[in-house]
Amino acid sequence: MNTTNGIVLVTGGNRGIGCEICRQLALKGYTVIMGSRNYRKGIAAASSMEGTVIVKKLDVRRNRDVNELANWVAKEYGKLDVLINNAGVGATIASRLPRFLRPFLPLARKVKPMVVKAGLPLGNATVSTVSLPGVKSIMDTNFYGPWLMIQAFISLLEKSGQGHIINVSSGMGEWVSLNGEYPGYRLSKVSLNALTVMFSRELSEKGIRVNAICPGWVRTDMGGAEAPLTVGQGADTAVWLAEEKEGATGRFFRGRREINW
Ligand code: NAP
Repeated sequence: MNTTNGIVLVTGGNRGIGCEICRQLALKGYTVIMGSRNYRKGIAAASSMEGTVIVKKLDVRRNRDVNELANWVAKEYGKLDVLINNAGVGATIASRLPRFLRPFLPLARKVKPMVVKAGLPLGNATVSTVSLPGVKSIMDTNFYGPWLMIQAFISLLEKSGQGHIINVSSGMGEWVSLNGEYPGYRLSKVSLNALTVMFSRELSEKGIRVNAICPGWVRTDMGGAEAPLTVGQGADTAVWLAEEKEGATGRFFRGRREINW
């Protein structure tokens, strides 16, 4: 198959920053594979995009989805150039509720003790009080998901010759800014940063670079309406890095500049 500028796989591509990354890269002539855990939502999001966007069902917590997609990419293209691990769940109850339940958010806040018990760091649910199943559930998507994805796609990224893994992390995972608030989310992102460094060292001999980015605070379902950045600005560093065919590995970027872990 004709593969234009390269083949890029974006997880959690149906809304928010991931959706914008897909849109911008497709416009630039990349073949974009949009992972969406709900196929129909992915199709709806891709329908307004220009260029080549292929929607595939992908829940990053599910071995089966991940392996089926890796097999499909192997058959269709025989390689993958860029893997963008964007899918994530946030620290607020708003981002954890299905959309149809979001009008009931004020009610959910009233039942805060239950919410706290579920591990969602509302109110005083800090690292001292948060319940661990909630933390584990955030880790499943934000940390084990990217790990599963990377393992499944190593051989296809190696075949690219210029394979690049971009993990969408967060300032909340910066070592220097760690504190007890939003414990599950912070832990998931600081762990993702560590995973980025570990894989960067192991995969450099295969010619695969592994980097992390922080998109900044972005107006999405997760970031909320108060966030200062648009999705366009939030997607910018990931898109810029995806286009860099050579360069750094094992680094952390925000606003196209390297930042400290
Ligand atoms: P968002 O608007 O809430 O979108 C999250 C995306 O991830 C959705 O497409 C969602 O799919 C998908 N997703 C969630 N769980 C998934 C799973 N198990 N498997 C596959 N896809 C899954 O969030 P966002 O603001 O765009 O955030 C994108 C990334 O940027 C995240 O990693 C986040 O931690 C990071 N980030 C965001 C901000 C910010 O201010 N927004 C700041 C720093 C870092 P569904 O539609 O199916 O739920």
